[in-house]
Amino acid sequence: MSPKAWPVNAADRLDALIAPVIQARRTEGLYRQPRPLARLGDTRVRLGGRECTVFCSNDYLGLSGHPEVVRAWCETAEHEGVGSGASHLVSGHSVIHAQLEEALAEFVGRPRALLFSTGYMANMGLLNALVGPGDVAFEDQLNHASLLDGGWLSRGQMRRYPHRDVAALETALSERQEGRAFIVTDAVFSMDGDLAPLSELVALANRTESHLVVDDAHGLGVLGPGGGGTPPALGLSHADVPVYVGTLGKAIGTFGAFVAGSETLIDYLIQRARTYIYTTALPPALAAGTMAALQLARREDWRRDKLSVLIARFRAGAEQLGLPCMPSMTPIQPLLLGDARAALQMGQALLDDGFLVTPIRPPTVPAGTARLRITLSAAHEESDVDRLLDALARHAHLLVAQEAAQ
Ligand SMILES: *Cc1c(COP(=O)(O)O)cnc(C)c1O
Repeated sequence: MSPKAWPVNAADRLDALIAPVIQARRTEGLYRQPRPLARLGDTRVRLGGRECTVFCSNDYLGLSGHPEVVRAWCETAEHEGVGSGASHLVSGHSVIHAQLEEALAEFVGRPRALLFSTGYMANMGLLNALVGPGDVAFEDQLNHASLLDGGWLSRGQMRRYPHRDVAALETALSERQEGRAFIVTDAVFSMDGDLAPLSELVALANRTESHLVVDDAHGLGVLGPGGGGTPPALGLSHADVPVYVGTLGKAIGTFGAFVAGSETLIDYLIQRARTYIYTTALPPALAAGTMAALQLARREDWRRDKLSVLIARFRAGAEQLGLPCMPSMTPIQPLLLGDARAALQMGQALLDDGFLVTPIRPPTVPAGTARLRITLSAAHEESDVDRLLDALARHAHLLVAQEAAQ
C-alpha cells in the first residue's frame, strides 16, 4: 500500500498524540520556549529589539566573557582544532584535559578528578555507576533534576526525603533492609539558594555507614576560601565528602563538569560511568579556557567580595520593600510568587523595564511555588541592583495581589 492511502500521514498521527500536552501547558500558564538573545556585555543582552540587564544567569563571578579565558580558548583552538575527535578512552583525551583534571582536583582539595561533558551527564553516570541492584539512593526532594534522574535510572532504588530534613532521612535510613545506602544532595539548592545541612549529613553518613554524594554546582567558585566550594566553607574536607561533583558552566563561566574524589573512585568511574565512556571528550580548547577561568576564580577574591556586597544590598532592599525573599545567602535570591501566571506577569513587567529575570515555574519547581529566580553576579554594579529594586518596587502591587489571591 502506498503511504498516500493512509487517512493521515505518519507525522500527523504522531503530532495528534503529543499536541495535547503542549495545549495543557499553555492552559496552565506553564508553556515554555527558548528566547534567542544577543549578548552585548557581561550582564547585557538584546532580546526582541530591547536591551536589558540579565538577572538570571549562573555566571556568578562574571568570567564567561573574560579576555584571558577567551584568549586561552582561541589560542588552543588554533593549534589543536575544535573537536576532540573521540571519547576519552579512545583518542580524545588530550594533555590539556589531563592538566585540567589535575587543576580541578587541586582546586577542590581532592586526590583526583574526572571530566564529564556536562553536570547532567556527570550525575547520571556517577549514580548509575555507584547505585547498584539492592542499593538505595536517598535524595533531597529539591535536588537538581540530573541527580533525581540519575537515581531513577540507576539499577537501585531511589527515595526522596523532605527538603533538608535530616531527622526524616535518618528514619528512612534506619528502615532500610539491605544493600548500600547513598545520601545524595545539592550543596546549594539550585532554585532556592539555601544550603544543605552538610555537617549533619556527614555525621549521619558516618553513623549509618552510608556514602555521601554532594553536587556543588552553585557553590564551586562562589563559596569557601579561594572559591573551593561549599564543603571547605563549612569546614569539611575530602575525608568527610568522598564524592564531590562540580560544574564548569556556572561560576567558572565555561562548560562541562567533573567528579572529584579518591584515586579509587575515579578509577572506578573510568571503568563504569557510561556517560564518561560512551561520549566524545570535551574540546581541548574548552579545557584550556577553563584552566584560565579556574586561575581567575582562585586568584580574584574581589569577585567573591563584590558578590557578597551585592547580595547584602539586594536582600536589604528587598526586605525593606517587603518582597517575598527566601532564606538564601548565596547569589541565588528567588522571590516566591506561588502562581505560575503571576510569575509570568512579573517577569514580563520587569522585561518591559529592561530586566531579564525568566520566571521559574513547575515542573522545574514544585506546584504552587513559581518564582522569579533572581541571580547576582560580580559583573553587576551596585547601581544595577538599585535599578532592579526600583523596578520591583514599581511592580510590587503584582506581588501583593498575588498574596491576596492565595
Ligand atoms: C546546573 C546543574 C547541573 C547540571 O550541570 P550542567 O553542566 O549545566 O549540565 C547539575 N547539578 C546542579 C545542582 C545544577 O544546578
